Amino acid sequence: TEYSMQTYLSSSLYPNDGDSFDQLYRKALIAMEYGRKNLIDTLVSYENVFLEDLSEKENIKKEIEIGIVEEEFIVYYQEKINIKTGKVCGLEALARWDSKKLGMIGPNVFIPIIENSKLTIPFSEMIVKRVLQDFKRIKIKYGGDITVSINISPVHIIYKDFKNFLMDQCKLNNVENDKIELEITENVMIQGFEQIEKIVNDLRQQGFKVSLDDFGTGYSSLSYISKIPIDILKIDKSFIDNITGNKRAKVMIESIINIARAYSMSVVAEGVETKEQVEMLTSLGCDIVQGYYYSRPNPL
Ligand code: C2E
Ligand code: CA
Ligand code: CA
Repeated sequence: TEYSMQTYLSSSLYPNDGDSFDQLYRKALIAMEYGRKNLIDTLVSYENVFLEDLSEKENIKKEIEIGIVEEEFIVYYQEKINIKTGKVCGLEALARWDSKKLGMIGPNVFIPIIENSKLTIPFSEMIVKRVLQDFKRIKIKYGGDITVSINISPVHIIYKDFKNFLMDQCKLNNVENDKIELEITENVMIQGFEQIEKIVNDLRQQGFKVSLDDFGTGYSSLSYISKIPIDILKIDKSFIDNITGNKRAKVMIESIINIARAYSMSVVAEGVETKEQVEMLTSLGCDIVQGYYYSRPNPL
């Protein structure tokens, strides 16, 4: 068994948050719990809204459990476009919660709650299964060469059964492994560099592709790039947002593309919203674009 240790930092202040040690300690614990659940990696100072937030989340968690059983979770797909040909070359699967009680809910609300519970693996397996079941229709719509990327949480990618589960699902649905791209974030490296290196190598050996999502926003050490064989770099939207107005942002993207080239990775720019951005990315030699400019995530 692997163990990992995490540190959280929280504070409460006399006299606003209480006038005894016990009161202040309790408030600091609440702030810490809030920070833990929301994956905040800086100091969290107590605020009264945290109390509401915590009970709200407990409620949502119960609803999520019901939603999984009731099959309220669905998958939307967003197209990725080859910038040279203008054709769709891939899709990204994005989870949505069509809750009977709460309406349509985006993953920014439910993923952090799920990932702080024991639901991570059943949820993630459910999404993977859905995507693979959808493949037949995807191939009819987009042709047999299409690849589909799935966001995989750090907890799932290090789960011992992950590779076999994925291979079984591909076999079951007649999908070649190399049509599946696994999007992981830099934060996965927190799980231990050597472990991730082995997992990525094993997955790639089976033909799966591995994509580094939100590149440039997470665990910021470039050294792993030279050691772990990643297939695709996804440049985070925050860089793309600034590309046309800000020379420094442009230089940064240029550099990222150069790094990718040097390691034979392809580059996806995400969150592309304007024509100007597309033109700039074309001139910088970016391979693939994804964003509202081309299409929003949609049900199949
Ligand atoms: P992500 O992987 O970075 O996905 C891209 C997000 O940007 C998606 O948000 C997408 O709808 C949005 N997006 C795409 N193009 C544009 C654009 O041009 N402008 C703007 N403003 N946004 C754009 P979404 O679907 O809300 O997903 C949010 C995050 O939730 C994802 O970020 C991903 O980290 C996570 N997520 C989604 N589905 C899953 C899943 O099945 N499993 C896991 N573990 N995480 C998921
Ligand atoms: Ca992604
Ligand atoms: Ca992303």
